[in-house]
Amino acid sequence: MPEEKKCIICNKSFLPNKYRPNQDVCSSVECQYRRQLQNMSQWRKRNPNYFKYKEVHDDSWKETCKQRSLEWRKRHKEYLKLYREAHKSRHREYMRDYMKEYRRRKQESFPGERNNAQGTI
Ligand SMILES: [Zn+2]
Repeated sequence: MPEEKKCIICNKSFLPNKYRPNQDVCSSVECQYRRQLQNMSQWRKRNPNYFKYKEVHDDSWKETCKQRSLEWRKRHKEYLKLYREAHKSRHREYMRDYMKEYRRRKQESFPGERNNAQGTI
């Protein structure tokens, strides 16, 4: 019978997997995800130069930063464009329905309008 453990993230007790007796995080998705993030940041602390390596050695660190913010702005712009497009088509649909309704009402209140278009009033 495996011993119950306490999850180091959510503090709930859980039964560790028998294949992973050292497991210290329960099996909930959120805790597993947080565990992964922790592992990643720990790994980065142990290997602090891994991601910097390239930047340090081709001395274009500032250029890289600039590039990154440009990319972010570009992505942001695309997002805004998509948002506006979506908004526009929704607005168009709304206007189309509105005009349909408007014409229908006009027809109802002036049923003979079409025939009298050239007539005198
Ligand atoms: Zn947990």
